[in-house]
Amino acid sequence: MRDHADSFSDGNDRKNWLLRNACVIREDGSLLRNTDLWIENGVITKIAPAGTGNAPDDFEQIDCSRFHVSCGLPNLHVHTAMNIFKGIAEDADSDEWFNQLIFPYESRLTREDVLLGTKLGIAEMINNGVTVFADHYFFEDAVLDAVKECGIRADLAPTLFGMAPDFDDRLSAVRSFVREHRNDSPLVSFRAGPHADYTCPPDAIGKIADFARSEGLGIHLHVSEEAAQVKLARERYSMTPFAYLDRYGIFDQPVLVAHGLWVEEEDLQYLKEDTIFAICAKTYEKLAMGRGGFFTCRDRIRYGFGTDGAASSNTLNVAEQARMFALLGKFLADDAHELRTMQVWQHLMGGHGAFGFGTGKMCEGAPADLVIWDLNAPDTFPVYHPVTSILYSANSSHVRFTMVDGRFLKYDGKLLLDVDQLMAEAEETRQALIARGPGKAEVSYL
Ligand SMILES: [Zn+2]
Repeated sequence: MRDHADSFSDGNDRKNWLLRNACVIREDGSLLRNTDLWIENGVITKIAPAGTGNAPDDFEQIDCSRFHVSCGLPNLHVHTAMNIFKGIAEDADSDEWFNQLIFPYESRLTREDVLLGTKLGIAEMINNGVTVFADHYFFEDAVLDAVKECGIRADLAPTLFGMAPDFDDRLSAVRSFVREHRNDSPLVSFRAGPHADYTCPPDAIGKIADFARSEGLGIHLHVSEEAAQVKLARERYSMTPFAYLDRYGIFDQPVLVAHGLWVEEEDLQYLKEDTIFAICAKTYEKLAMGRGGFFTCRDRIRYGFGTDGAASSNTLNVAEQARMFALLGKFLADDAHELRTMQVWQHLMGGHGAFGFGTGKMCEGAPADLVIWDLNAPDTFPVYHPVTSILYSANSSHVRFTMVDGRFLKYDGKLLLDVDQLMAEAEETRQALIARGPGKAEVSYL
């Protein structure tokens, strides 16, 4: 057995690993101290008290006696490529943000921009301990290429705007794309990705529901983000966005609801066991999206956390989103007992249930998608409970290692990706985006 391999490239290969003498944080927040984790062929094969058994020669070991190990973090809603727009739309309300900035700039995005933005976003997620994410964007072939190149796990929803003039062509292109690539990699899955109820008229949303049903896909879409969207649906269809989507069969499939901040009591009847909300609290605060109904209904809704794109939330750190959600919930309820730390951690980890990968379980036989946390730093120390430190004090510098499918994508504090190269290209792209300027968008917000 080789000792702790300290060269960067060593982390990349899928090897058999023994993470020795760790404090393991389970998905319910409970701890297993002085524990060895055995990882073979990308799977956790043994969780045992430290020192139980000797590892064979083909195992490498990492001394985790000063570290904590948890499952990796799931990001339930992200427009990863929008990392390239980070900081382009500040201090803007939703109308300005969509109609004057984001949709016009997006109308001129190229495949290369999306490839680069996605890689940059994935690098940020890995840096923050995210091991799986649900992406919602266009140029899906570029997104898929980036995911494969970076080695992370992802669920991809090629975005469909039902109001776009070329909707039918786009839907058939997405159908072909999904059929062609759905078995490419065990680390990648697909969903249907209508943009939102208000950008998909009845004919389009019906066709998308049929597409999802016939291909056996889940659905990922924005619903009831703001009061104005609910008002519009009531004016157009005399019903809420949730009722509208239910009418066309959307909830017959597993649904990832991005946001749902303005969910109403009457909407709860449409939600199924496999309807999961992706809550992105930082976006709600930043774009001043209002109070909504989610915080009063949340105990009856299955939810986890997403980051949304970096153009609205500036970071793809899903633990930060959980933190902001908890703080916002306490603040709105005027009650510090609301959203207790363990409850928030359980929702964060419960987000894995939105995927079909079997991740998010700290047990033998589960995929080895893990974070090794180093909380030995002034901003996280002392550690009374690691979950408190992670949720309320930690940042990417405390993610020492990130592992997906038994491979380290961040190893001993360093990302596998060539970050300097990525940033150099991103700076060129930023300048090109500004030089090109906003275009004329084919879609509009409300
Ligand atoms: Zn979104």
